[in-house]
Amino acid sequence: MKCVHLPGFRSLLELVDKPTPVPTGTEVLLKVLGAGMCHSDAHIWEGQYDLGGGRSISMAERIRFPLVMGHETSGEVVALGPQANGAALGARYAVCSWIGCGACHFCAAGDEHLCATPRFLGVNRDGGYADHVLVPHPRYLVDIGDLDPVAAAPLVCSGLTTYSALKKAGPQLQHERIVMFGAGGLGLMALNLLRILGAPGAVVLEPDAVKRDAAMAAGAIAAIDPRAADVAEQVRAALGQPVRFVLDLVGSGESATLGFELLERAGKMVVVGLFGGAMQLSVPLLPMRAATLQGSYIGSPAELRELVALVRERGGLAMPIDRRSLADADTALQDLRAGRVVGRVVLVP
Ligand SMILES: [Zn+2]
Ligand SMILES: [Zn+2]
Repeated sequence: MKCVHLPGFRSLLELVDKPTPVPTGTEVLLKVLGAGMCHSDAHIWEGQYDLGGGRSISMAERIRFPLVMGHETSGEVVALGPQANGAALGARYAVCSWIGCGACHFCAAGDEHLCATPRFLGVNRDGGYADHVLVPHPRYLVDIGDLDPVAAAPLVCSGLTTYSALKKAGPQLQHERIVMFGAGGLGLMALNLLRILGAPGAVVLEPDAVKRDAAMAAGAIAAIDPRAADVAEQVRAALGQPVRFVLDLVGSGESATLGFELLERAGKMVVVGLFGGAMQLSVPLLPMRAATLQGSYIGSPAELRELVALVRERGGLAMPIDRRSLADADTALQDLRAGRVVGRVVLVP
């Protein structure tokens, strides 16, 4: 099989050959049909997250090299271990990469994405930047039916992450407009999901003019430059109602600080992005505004099944996809880091 190796932090991604694994026990081998490239792959490549105030968190203890990244994978089953019941040869699936230890209280509750000792595909073990991927158990396969496997691959991370975060708005999502930071892969996915859910939609804050245009094309109510001096007035005018839900898909000190400033009484801000930095927060305004600040990390395997079922039933997923070959993975990652990607890069072997 061919796979893309990351030999170490900040190293060139290399296309290498290695023996194709033979599934044993409950394992399933899939031919990869699409492997989305996520901003967290850029963080893995860089080896750290910026926590703000000069602090950072290192990935050094979590990553073993060489690593095959790729946690947004779709594929077709080509071989099954003798105990791999519940998957069909030739069927197409999205691969749920969020695999926990199976023993902690998070895993017992079905929240494997919150497990403290994860075995995530593409992070802690080899993932989808390859022409084949080995999945430990059929329960991590979600049937995508007739969905385009290249378009469906990003549902596993950008889809699930935005879906789980949007659900945290509660029933108001169906009848109120929201404010959203970021029109990268997550932002365009969120706009797609709002449309599929029949929700009134979002006013988007995005500094890049090309990405603002992409947000408008994806159905944003308005796309505003957050660096404008009158940004708060522009957002309120475009929203036409109080700001009661802010979704921060960027997660920088600037976006989270501005997001909280925009929030009205009894509002909620959900932070998803991992750009890095520290937010300025007026402590008295938190109780005085009865505000809620919440973080959201990926989403549960059950939510992924819910999301795929929703997209299969209603259709309408129309993310801009930038298809690249495995050999082009290194260039694609650097394009993503430099902000040159509109929509989602999907490696297609
Ligand atoms: Zn991701
Ligand atoms: Zn666990």
